[in-house]
Amino acid sequence: MSSIFMPTKVLIDDAVIENNQSAWLLGQSALLITGRSSAKLSGAESDVIACLEANHIKYSIFNQIENDPTVETVLAASEYAKTVDADFIIGIGGGSPLDAAKGVAVLAVNEALTLDELFRNQFTKALPIVAIPTTAGTGSEVTPYSVLYRQDIGTKVSFGSPLTFPKIALLDEKYTESLRKDIAIHTAIDAFTHSFEGFLANRASAYSDTLALDALKRFGSVIDQLADLNYSSALRKELLYISMLGGMVISHTGVTVVHAMGYAYTVHYDIPHGQANGFLLGTYLKYLKQINEQKLEFALDTLGMSAEQLVKKIQGLIGSAPAIREEEIAQFTEQTLVQSGSLANTSGVVDEVILKELWKNEWRQSHELV
Ligand code: NAP
Ligand code: FE
Repeated sequence: MSSIFMPTKVLIDDAVIENNQSAWLLGQSALLITGRSSAKLSGAESDVIACLEANHIKYSIFNQIENDPTVETVLAASEYAKTVDADFIIGIGGGSPLDAAKGVAVLAVNEALTLDELFRNQFTKALPIVAIPTTAGTGSEVTPYSVLYRQDIGTKVSFGSPLTFPKIALLDEKYTESLRKDIAIHTAIDAFTHSFEGFLANRASAYSDTLALDALKRFGSVIDQLADLNYSSALRKELLYISMLGGMVISHTGVTVVHAMGYAYTVHYDIPHGQANGFLLGTYLKYLKQINEQKLEFALDTLGMSAEQLVKKIQGLIGSAPAIREEEIAQFTEQTLVQSGSLANTSGVVDEVILKELWKNEWRQSHELV
């Protein structure tokens, strides 16, 4: 069975916020959910506020969303949403603020929802969400997913239901212009892995493959420009589009073992999400060669490079993974097993034994034993 469901309206435009006000003014009391600086640096926050003020719409701002947001911060933001009587949420930022916005949209209107209920999607309503990405990576503006760090289990977990797709996504490449170079690279690699993993996922369908292959072809054409000092507006536009496609892909396929393992690098070594995924590519490709070589070759042909070239290019952009300690193999294996959905979605069977092998490979690679 495959189903196709993409309920987010996406507007891609220069001056997208100003030019499409009637499309995104979804209520009378907005709560802006942002990180500490990106919404301002990108210029998106002031463009949003100018429109809200011109339309006499009340607004408040919660600007304390950290990278890889915690449940606690999202809970604090949803309490604030209740205090200010928000009737729609505007997420501005990278995946962190956008994912947090989804948590706020749910927690603000589902009284007494427990965390277990939240992560099992046992909620019945959500405030409408406007998503304005300022990174070109997660595609969160078109996915239902919210990835949050749960202190009680020591790792990142996600929720997402048809209710948590943003109602509208506003894409304007100028909001990614202020990105630091390393963040631009990491996030581009995240976008790539969404389409790559999605294409090779068990839940891939003819529909998701069409989107994924388009994204892979586009990524293969721009990968050599990622190291450039300055990105042209055309390149930024293309990266934002690739990111959106990746989001649409994983909305249908989910992610796989790369994302599942990547959370351990982020949680234990503070490695940004996209970079963590990039570090794991070598191990993933080695695994796929044994499990699903035919579809892997198709993906690589579409990218226009061999597995070795891909790993080398990505390594050239992000460097090498940290040298993990031998005892972390077991610890990381155990934590990755929490991501049971993503593991079940990976080609072949990724059980505890295989997972341990994959982490062992990471350990060997990082100690240059392979
Ligand atoms: P991010 O954590 O949102 O942002 C990383 C850094 O970039 C932050 O310091 C941020 O500043 C800064 N930044 C963002 N936009 C900027 C801009 N235009 N100019 C200057 N600085 C800017 O990074 P991300 O990679 O986009 O998101 C990662 C999160 O998304 C992870 O938690 C990951 O698990 C999640 N994710 C979600 C999905 C999904 O489907 N929902 C998919 C993949 C990943 P501020 O701190 O000021 O914001
Ligand atoms: Fe991701």
